[in-house]
Amino acid sequence: MPAAGALARPDAPLWLAGLLLAAGLEAGLACIAVAPKANAQGNPPLVSIVVMPVPLVNGSPFLLTVKLAGKASALKATWIGRQILFFPGKSDGAAETWYALAGVDVETAPGSYPLDIEATTAAGVILHTTRPLQVAAAHYHTAALKVAENFVAPDALTQKQIAEDQAVKDRTFAHSANQPEWSGDFAKPVQAQATDSFGTRRTFNGKLASIHRGMDFRAPSGTPVAAANSGSVILARKLFYEGNCVVIDHGQGFMTIYMHLSRVDVTEGAGVGKGQRLGLSGATGRVTGLHLHFAARWQGAYVDPAGLFALRLTGRP
Ligand SMILES: [Zn+2]
Repeated sequence: MPAAGALARPDAPLWLAGLLLAAGLEAGLACIAVAPKANAQGNPPLVSIVVMPVPLVNGSPFLLTVKLAGKASALKATWIGRQILFFPGKSDGAAETWYALAGVDVETAPGSYPLDIEATTAAGVILHTTRPLQVAAAHYHTAALKVAENFVAPDALTQKQIAEDQAVKDRTFAHSANQPEWSGDFAKPVQAQATDSFGTRRTFNGKLASIHRGMDFRAPSGTPVAAANSGSVILARKLFYEGNCVVIDHGQGFMTIYMHLSRVDVTEGAGVGKGQRLGLSGATGRVTGLHLHFAARWQGAYVDPAGLFALRLTGRP
């Protein structure tokens, strides 16, 4: 481990000096470019940070691409209290490109948040820089729903089950693979129409308020549900609210969740490929009718599946 003191060195390399905002370099991308200036220690200067998509809104999943002019042994960042883990892509001579899939929680307030990037050089020197990342306001809907009373005012026995479910989910979400298990674009899990419902503020029977943290597909009963990307099945069981539920870990804190299935065809611990059948859609758990609820989660932040399907990840490692 490099000395923590390296972070606070007064002679910290000026690898990030002269940050320029080079807007419109590529459609839909924000590129923050710097002149590749090597420093005396031979540390890797940061060439650019590209954020996709632009603008970010509360609920956006996003891809960060960081180009370094030299080699690094590790790259990570912190943003709004969450750690972003990068993985290395192609090495082009001395230059290196690192990627991270991350997200803005649906409940994040619009504003400017510092992205604190930390690179560890091959020699173990830690380099630091901070850039502001803007979050604009998304415009989501509101809705009033009716469900069976026990889903709003659960009895004592049901409350016990809900608490047990919560413990299972907490354990499930606590671990994620260190390396990305996804590959290429995320695909829709069913061939069915989706409702524009992510981020909707909802009341149930006029009482309970919550934010809809996923996308609902109007899938007829028995529609095959497929993995949106490759990964590992970390949960496959029946829960009170979610019904028959599958959670796939795609690595580095990124997960997708499939709810209300009539049948589950995978087991916890199994690896799955993109498009592999996880089960059949249904109406189990807290539902107002037949549908597939699909959610995408990054380190506890829920992000808009529509944004995830729109991210162009093919061709990246
Ligand atoms: Zn839903």
